[in-house]
Parts: sequence; structure tokens; C-alpha cells
Amino acid sequence: MKSKRYSVYQLFKIRYSFSGFRLAGVVVDEEEKTVQVSLKRVGCTSICPSCKRRCKTFEAFYTRRVRLRDVFEYECRVDFMERKIRCKCGYRGLEELCFVRPYSHCTRSLEELVAGFCVVLSISEASKKFRLDWKTVKEIDKQSILEHLPGLKEFNPVRIG
Ligand SMILES: [Zn+2]
Repeated sequence: MKSKRYSVYQLFKIRYSFSGFRLAGVVVDEEEKTVQVSLKRVGCTSICPSCKRRCKTFEAFYTRRVRLRDVFEYECRVDFMERKIRCKCGYRGLEELCFVRPYSHCTRSLEELVAGFCVVLSISEASKKFRLDWKTVKEIDKQSILEHLPGLKEFNPVRIG
């Protein structure tokens, strides 16, 4: 049992990188087929999403839990502490994290995977496949379309026909 946990921990250490954090723990539930990953902060600065500079002034801390890509049949989640910053540039809000978008329920890596499947699957098929909420998949699909077709943001038809 112990050796299995060790191997999953190693797998996560090799496979995933969470910039600004280090792997603090990996708990495998064999019955539920879940993996719970927890992260610890490294460093005492955060990146401001507005000016991209490092910021040391924090207003609040939030615990976040987001879904990761599954490992085999295991459903994986990651817990970490997120900072709300007050930057010198005037920005106040969530810090920038390279592996997850603000308020998203999934990591960027899982979002990319889901968005890829949304090209060939319907929203409900994709949500079943990834065991994700329908609204979450819909949002991922929407964000992906906006990212790949930035012109659409400005395209706001008032009248059709
Ligand atoms: Zn800033």
C-alpha cells in the first residue's frame, strides 16, 4: 500500500509542475478512485496579472480546490492557497498563477484537454467523459474559442438578418 502511494507521489512530482508551489502531499483513495494533491507555497511574492511585476502586499488568502487531469482511472484534485494582492500599479485582485485561471474549476492543462474534446464532442458528452459539471465544460469551451479567435471579443452583432 505504502509503495503505491510513493509511486503516485513520484508520478505527480515528475508529471506536474506548479510554479510558485511545491508538492506537499498526495493522498490516494483506492476505494473512491481519487487522488488529492496538496501544494505549499514557495517564495513570498506573487505575480501581478496587470503589470506582471512581483508583489508582496496581500489582502486576503483563499483556499482553492481545482480538478487536474485524471491519472488512469483516478479523479485528481489539487488544493492550494491563493493570494489576493494589492499591487503598486493599482491592481487589486487575485494573483496570476501559471497553472490555473482565476475562478476556474480546472487547471489550464485539463482545460486544454477538455477544449480539444469539445471540438468533436457535444458539451454534455464532454462533461460525462471528464466527470465535470456541464456549466464548467461550457465555460471552458467558450474561453477556448475566445482565446483562439480573439476577434470574436469585439464581434458583437446587434442585429442579425
Ligand atoms: Zn501590478
